[in-house]
Amino acid sequence: MNAVATEPSHARLLPAIRRWIELETPSHDGHAVAALARLVADEARRCGLQAQLHEVSGSTGPLLQLSNRRADDERKGILVLAHLDTVHPVGTLARNPFRVEDDRVHGPGGYDMKAGAWVAFEALKAVGIAGVDRLPVDMLFVPDEEVGSTASRPLIERVAGRAACALVAEPARAGGRCVTARKGIGTLRLRAHGCAAHAGLQHERGRSAIRELAHQVLALEAMTDHARGVTVNVGRIEGGTAANVVPEQASLLGEFRMPSQALAEDLSARMRALRPCTPDVRLEVEAWIRRPPYERSAGAAALLQQAQRHAAAAGFALHEAPMTGGGSDGNFTAALGIPTLDGLGVEGDGAHALHEHFLLSSVQPRLAFWTAMLTELA
Ligand SMILES: [Zn+2]
Repeated sequence: MNAVATEPSHARLLPAIRRWIELETPSHDGHAVAALARLVADEARRCGLQAQLHEVSGSTGPLLQLSNRRADDERKGILVLAHLDTVHPVGTLARNPFRVEDDRVHGPGGYDMKAGAWVAFEALKAVGIAGVDRLPVDMLFVPDEEVGSTASRPLIERVAGRAACALVAEPARAGGRCVTARKGIGTLRLRAHGCAAHAGLQHERGRSAIRELAHQVLALEAMTDHARGVTVNVGRIEGGTAANVVPEQASLLGEFRMPSQALAEDLSARMRALRPCTPDVRLEVEAWIRRPPYERSAGAAALLQQAQRHAAAAGFALHEAPMTGGGSDGNFTAALGIPTLDGLGVEGDGAHALHEHFLLSSVQPRLAFWTAMLTELA
């Protein structure tokens, strides 16, 4: 512990953030995520905000929706996106316990993104209930962002229908940079069906599914084009049964990332057009876009200018990061044409790693920034 942690201004915020971090919330543990969602919902209600817990799927935690809308207010407002889940399994806290060392606040999921979510939540509380003269703010705490938001996506997109712009409290990038563009992410599944045979007695009658898949792996990886920001990664492969059997089955799982919708369509089409190289072998190809590309828009650029003004007033420079390969729920809103500014959470490092930490010195300025930003946009 050092002097930073004991400053009066930090005395209130640190215990609150600590409580969020110490409730461990891996995406796959719906009960754990629900416990934190209820804690946030209860506090929101005490502050006069509306809080709804939506069930999105049996195994996923609830999606928490907060709003400062009055009951009959259907205007397009501001959408704030955050997630409560982390990549860390329960027990990670014992290996990376909550602690303050100099300016670093350690703990699983603090930087990505409980501290940022807390900051945005505090700003919403400070803004208070919307009146006729102020636009409403809706805030979503997604329970499955770290596993692709598959269960939450329909509800995120439905709520985004009432959004004029979206702000995402995902962690700030190196140097405090924000995000205005993210690659899209696709998933790829290939299955080859060959013909089994005794590898010694009737090898010539066999049709190797693994051999077929080997051809396809090379064809897929050849679609990578770093210059255009396109990557195709075969991440898992399995097949066959034994060394003395020509393999009948083989399958692979991969993903692909791309910076634009045009490239997303081009890649998916090329993947679906893959044909078997081996006679008598059948190939099944599935390729779909899990997160659409978040392309930098004029609306996002305008939002960035506003944000830069408020950041400067709050005491920090807000620069733009280059397009990032990692997705977020901002991909969904941006793809719907909603001006989206992302990476507005706290500064830090080590997302998804054991050395994850956020910078305590970034919390107060980011809180001032978020409050000013929500107040002006509303
Ligand atoms: Zn995140």
